[in-house]
Amino acid sequence: MCPCECGGEYQKKWGALEIQDPFIGPMKLEDADYEECARCKDRIFPLETARAIDKQREVLLNQIIKKQPLQDFFTAAEAASGLGITKQALHKNRKVRRGFIYHTTLGGMVFYLKQSVALYREKGDGRLLLSELDNSRSYEPVSTRRGVETRYSVHER
Ligand SMILES: [Zn+2]
Repeated sequence: MCPCECGGEYQKKWGALEIQDPFIGPMKLEDADYEECARCKDRIFPLETARAIDKQREVLLNQIIKKQPLQDFFTAAEAASGLGITKQALHKNRKVRRGFIYHTTLGGMVFYLKQSVALYREKGDGRLLLSELDNSRSYEPVSTRRGVETRYSVHER
């Protein structure tokens, strides 16, 4: 096992894992496999755990987006025209499909979060901290414990 750059040793761990996601906030996984530095608490996730985190993030993200009121969304035509592209170009855009603009589907139609479209137009990345969405609503965080900013890396085994 490689020593950590802080001089500590990584130790294999298995169990509940809590991470601070840059967009979702705190996320908790049951029964995850990971390594943690005994000294600085830096974590390394094996591919399988990294995939589980991605999946969890997707599920949570979708839940949060679906709770937003309908007036906070653009139709595909509105989003495309706001971005100055065609609807087809919007549907085919790989970045958008990968979630760079938060969107959800309803009755086979895709709806795009207005705030995310605006951010994407400005920066090419429409992902925003979900706690920045209307604060008057609460999202029942997965964990109430405030997570600390944790940097993590992934390695393949
Ligand atoms: Zn360390």
